[in-house]
Amino acid sequence: MKAMVLREIGSIDDSPLKLEDMPIPEPGPQQVRIKIRCCAICRTDLHVIEGDLPEYKLPMVPGHQIIGTIDKIGRGCGHVRKGQRVGVAWLRSTCGKCEYCLSGKENLCESAMFTGYHKEGGFAEYALVRYDFAYPIPKKIDDVTAAPMLCSGLIGYRALERANVFSGCRLLLIGFGSSAHLVMQLAKNRFCEVFVVTRSEGHQELAREMGAVWVGSSCDELPDLMDSVIIFAPVGELYRDALNHLKRGGTVISAGIHMSPVPQFDYQDHMFYERDIRTVTCNTRDDGKKLIKEAAKTGLTPQVTTYPLEETNQALQDLKHDRINGTGVIVIRE
Ligand SMILES: [Zn+2]
Ligand SMILES: [Zn+2]
Repeated sequence: MKAMVLREIGSIDDSPLKLEDMPIPEPGPQQVRIKIRCCAICRTDLHVIEGDLPEYKLPMVPGHQIIGTIDKIGRGCGHVRKGQRVGVAWLRSTCGKCEYCLSGKENLCESAMFTGYHKEGGFAEYALVRYDFAYPIPKKIDDVTAAPMLCSGLIGYRALERANVFSGCRLLLIGFGSSAHLVMQLAKNRFCEVFVVTRSEGHQELAREMGAVWVGSSCDELPDLMDSVIIFAPVGELYRDALNHLKRGGTVISAGIHMSPVPQFDYQDHMFYERDIRTVTCNTRDDGKKLIKEAAKTGLTPQVTTYPLEETNQALQDLKHDRINGTGVIVIRE
């Protein structure tokens, strides 16, 4: 099969992913093989490729927002059938036995494994996944619409769930990439007033089109204090900006897997008056099921730019340099 393989950590601008021929993988016990149709791209792919996360395994096929059909089923799989259309997300397995797994917090499992990092991901023609970590995708949602939900959508969904939003609340999104433009739609379903800060003019335009009540390039221009802020950009400095514009009792949450150093805060100015500072880590399968259900019901639709498999480096370069409005999706087969 064809796959885009990372053999050495490096800047995406040097096109480190190489198109290679690999054997088609055989599913082991409790695994299914997915014949991949498409795989969305995400900043975490950049973090894996450029070495911002601890190096785990090379060579590696990145990509962790996979849509495809089950084409082979290993021993010991329940509830799946050949030809079924499914999605694969970043979280690909957990231990199922630890205190986190047993209390509905499998996203925090210390033995969790991730797609396109611990095991080969979706920038390829086939991939394996544990059968109980494959999400059934409703017919209503087409392939390229579904793919961005599996990480951008999911992390945004969980961030929004943890951001203490309420009907009529003022929600600020800092950064307006793939995840934020999906959160905008979810937040409007919850009747939030959405404010957006992003430096990219393309992203500002998209935010306006999608119904932001206010769009600007810096928090200093904000007309009001916010009830909740979600930080999407991986820049620690933004915590201070967010806290400077947060109401008493408000919540700031960061949605990234990686962040540059966070500055010192002043207790009185930034934290007192019950301001909550939170993070979000991955997602549970329950989050995934709820998001896919809401997406089918409300018509959640990412704006998508597609690329063929051999242009995956280009797609990730476009992501890194904010040249994509919405989400980039690698289309492996139509
Ligand atoms: Zn566990
Ligand atoms: Zn991701």
